[in-house]
Amino acid sequence: MQGLMMQQPLLVASLLKHAERHHSTQEIVSRRVEGDIHRYRYVDLAQRARRMANALASLAVAPGERVGTLAWNGYRHMELYFAVSGSGAVLHTLNPRLHADQLVYLIEHAQDRVIFFDLTFLPLIESVASRVTSPKFYVAMTDRAHMPRNHGLGSRLLRYEDLIEGHRADFEWPLLDENSASSLCYTSGTTGNPKGVLYSHRSTLLHTYAAALPDSLNCSARDTILPVVPMFHVNAWGLPYIACMVGAKLVFPGPALDGKSLYELIEQEQVTLSAGVPTVWQGLLAHAGSQNSSFSSMRRTIIGGAPCPTAMTAAFQKGHQVDVLHAWGMTELSPVGTVCSFKAHQVALPEAQRYALQARQGRSVFGIDMKIVDAAGKELPWDGYASGDLHVRGHWVTSEYFGGEHDTPLHDGWFPTGDVSKIDPDGFMQIVDRSKDVIKSGGEWISSADIENVACLHPDVATAVCIAARHPKWDERPLLLVVKRAGSTLGMEDLLNFFDGRVAKWWKPDAVLFVDAVPIGATGKVLKNQLREQYGDHYLQAR
Ligand code: AMP
Repeated sequence: MQGLMMQQPLLVASLLKHAERHHSTQEIVSRRVEGDIHRYRYVDLAQRARRMANALASLAVAPGERVGTLAWNGYRHMELYFAVSGSGAVLHTLNPRLHADQLVYLIEHAQDRVIFFDLTFLPLIESVASRVTSPKFYVAMTDRAHMPRNHGLGSRLLRYEDLIEGHRADFEWPLLDENSASSLCYTSGTTGNPKGVLYSHRSTLLHTYAAALPDSLNCSARDTILPVVPMFHVNAWGLPYIACMVGAKLVFPGPALDGKSLYELIEQEQVTLSAGVPTVWQGLLAHAGSQNSSFSSMRRTIIGGAPCPTAMTAAFQKGHQVDVLHAWGMTELSPVGTVCSFKAHQVALPEAQRYALQARQGRSVFGIDMKIVDAAGKELPWDGYASGDLHVRGHWVTSEYFGGEHDTPLHDGWFPTGDVSKIDPDGFMQIVDRSKDVIKSGGEWISSADIENVACLHPDVATAVCIAARHPKWDERPLLLVVKRAGSTLGMEDLLNFFDGRVAKWWKPDAVLFVDAVPIGATGKVLKNQLREQYGDHYLQAR
């Protein structure tokens, strides 16, 4: 027997319709590329998104065609999120931190018809425009007053505000198939070409429901959310959609991601919840520390994309009374997979145990199932000790990559994440490493993430990266690269002694190299493969 309930497709535009109807006066505040602060309401967002949907139709963007964006977090980018996907086209968020050659590849691979860009990226667009054939138009996300006079794009260059002004706000969002594609995001691809993950309206909506929950990203109408994580990196972890669903105030930082600018925006707009990768928070914490200032409104921060060191969790929680939500996810998962929020019996645990728990990436949100398997594919126990390849499946996990040139990534219906993890009896997953980053010493595994976590606890360590370096006896041994805090005179022996009692003896790195900086990739993560290339023979050369 069939149930007798209404069937309505799960569509991205319904989030905007809801926000307009139920939270019309809630604010969206953006620091603009133009330098000023812009503020308007959800009702304005909805109207302008409908105008833009009409504009896209006038540019002959057909359903299913890709529309690229090369933009910071801001209200115009948010309008495109809904105008493009809502009207049936596919939003392709391009990462402006990529090299021009990679952008050329991505634009051609996705066959973007139109590309919208923030003025910051005009030189980048000019450098790729002559090398790509698919875009018919480029749209500068600005108004007449700020439009540059000289550019190399000729009549293909349009102005965003002209498109808005030139089109009516009476657009009916089409009743699309919920399984149709809504947005496209490419993996960061440290090796080989990036792969396209094609989200559907349905997967996006289900992800939005689940990611907003109290034990997930914990968002509500009482929140003011600052997504520092870029809208070009896995849709800012879904926060633009979540904010519409729950009616939260949104604050967009634009291009100003330094500690001082973020701090000022957080205080000025009374942000309650922020989200970003650890590298961004380092700058914010350093600024707050140097000014001896704390946060008057921020109560929670979501940290993910890379392991959140315990030292950072403690700095936020003890130093600033800001709770840390450590989350794990990936482009192929839209991205949220697990979030580290306590179960009832863990709330009153001693502090050290709570911090140890928070170093884990957390438990599955409903809609994602996970398992760990050994090399033969056999499922391993959730005992907190056994570690193996992490596989996931669920409503917002990719089933194949866009373009059809890749084999199915699935194994028996599960997606192998490429992460090596363990899971404790409470279901808390902990990333031991990326499978390619794990250190294999004498046939046993050493977690580079654990080594980095301990090193970061040392007060003189600003950044610590542990890599596998080839070793004549043990195959591989951990090598620690450290950026010291300014003025520190920390030496190798002192730092190595710091590991005594904190990790098993054989996990202790054999050497520490002090460096000025470590290479950071387009999504804010340390490029370990570059470091391995540079320093991977350290122990062989040292002989
Ligand atoms: P991306 O697709 O660029 O978002 O990268 C996904 C990868 O980032 C995952 O497979 C993990 O290796 C890593 N990652 C994401 N979140 C975390 C986290 N909280 N801790 C450790 N690694 C993480």
